[in-house]
Amino acid sequence: MSSSSFCTKAKNWLYYFITVFAGVYLHEIGHCAVAWVYGKRAIPTPAKEYLLDAVSFNTQLYISLGGILGTILFSLFIFYLFIKSPLTFSQPVFAASLASPGLYCFLFLLKGRGHDATEFQEAQAAMGFSYSGHMVDYLFVFIFLLGIFLWVRFSKPSIKAIPGLLLASVITIVFVAGLQTINNRIFDPLFSH
Ligand SMILES: [Zn+2]
Repeated sequence: MSSSSFCTKAKNWLYYFITVFAGVYLHEIGHCAVAWVYGKRAIPTPAKEYLLDAVSFNTQLYISLGGILGTILFSLFIFYLFIKSPLTFSQPVFAASLASPGLYCFLFLLKGRGHDATEFQEAQAAMGFSYSGHMVDYLFVFIFLLGIFLWVRFSKPSIKAIPGLLLASVITIVFVAGLQTINNRIFDPLFSH
């Protein structure tokens, strides 16, 4: 591998992870934005939101929904930019818009729920859907499949991309799990009580 292609690869991974990081952070900001609207103190850290005030069950439903909306809007906004100029839009950034929906789909397949604890249940209850149902799980399955469809439709990737994508999926799981672990280790002692 030449050094220039190594640089391009390194740059692609950097753009990818920065965008994944931004998407996760936006999700946490989404939770906190709702808490702030309700006059509650909340701190968004890169991979977790910390509520400093007690909130009612109803407010908690909307706080959960805020994070989900953050993730959905982030992905749809990148889809929109990609569709507008599919040939010049950054592929790593587009790929990163599928990281969170892809992870949720993976966990949904693996464990029957796309998110740990009850965040998805609370978010769907806030939208008027059944608390115990799978509305948000299916919503992310739809967004993930929509992203794959757009990518195949507009970028016409070759079949040779598949091993790289599988590797990227595994690295993404490790990256997000590592980010959460480090985040919680730093911020739990400060903000959890
Ligand atoms: Zn969340």
